[in-house]
Amino acid sequence: MLMQDVVSWAQQIYILIGILLAATVGVGLLLVVWTGAKIALLMYRQRRGREEYRRAFYRADGQHYPPYIEGICEACGRGHRQIFHPSDGPNQCPDCYEAHWRRATGWAGDSESRTTGA
Ligand SMILES: [Zn+2]
Repeated sequence: MLMQDVVSWAQQIYILIGILLAATVGVGLLLVVWTGAKIALLMYRQRRGREEYRRAFYRADGQHYPPYIEGICEACGRGHRQIFHPSDGPNQCPDCYEAHWRRATGWAGDSESRTTGA
């Protein structure tokens, strides 16, 4: 009778240890997955931020955009929050300036256009 109780107790202890071990491994795995997801998200946001910065300040050919200020485009006559003041042409809105520098440099690269808030 007593021997049977001891064996039963030992089995319960083993089961308890197994459950704790499984829980620990599960929590560790969850932490690893969570951390990995956070790192992936951070890297994605960093890449997006770099691309956004590059698009905002550099033309598709890698040159800096000229300084800009709010005003009226001398090419199309529209008012815009960003009117570029290039040294080699009239003051232009982003759409006109894109066409201007691409024509001037003969750029045949990607047609990716600068995104501006109207
Ligand atoms: Zn224009």
